[in-house]
Amino acid sequence: MLSFMAISEIAKRLAIDKRLVENTIVLASGCHEWQGNISSDGYGRISYLNKKWRVHRLVWTLKNGPIPKGLDVRHYKCDNPPCINIDHLRIGTRKQNVQDMVRHGRQRKSMNKPYCTYGHKLTIENTYVHRNKRMCRECRRLVNRQRYLERKSNR
Ligand SMILES: [Zn+2]
Ligand SMILES: [Zn+2]
Repeated sequence: MLSFMAISEIAKRLAIDKRLVENTIVLASGCHEWQGNISSDGYGRISYLNKKWRVHRLVWTLKNGPIPKGLDVRHYKCDNPPCINIDHLRIGTRKQNVQDMVRHGRQRKSMNKPYCTYGHKLTIENTYVHRNKRMCRECRRLVNRQRYLERKSNR
């Protein structure tokens, strides 16, 4: 028979699984992208058992146990910080993590990037095509707004 402790552990585990699923969308790339709170460097954030986590690290930990000291959970397959697809994550050294970024940087030149230079998400709704390039609507909105304000103050 399960003890009370075991039952409450299972309940907590089910609750976190539910939160993870409910706050994630699946992209065509196979990424499971976190839609909840995002840190300034683009990683998903969540609190679980009175601890603040980066969501991809939590997902890895729930599956594999504690992250060994000095190692990082890398976005080995996708280089998409809010992605929490366990199949895209791999444990590794900080050095390997940097190598991933370099490798993805090279790949990205020929790929559609998920964010514009200013970090706006390049969703279908937020992009338009100009001279065969995908452009960010949010940036255009900000530029237009800036021009408007300048015109207004020059009056
Ligand atoms: Zn991914
Ligand atoms: Zn933008």
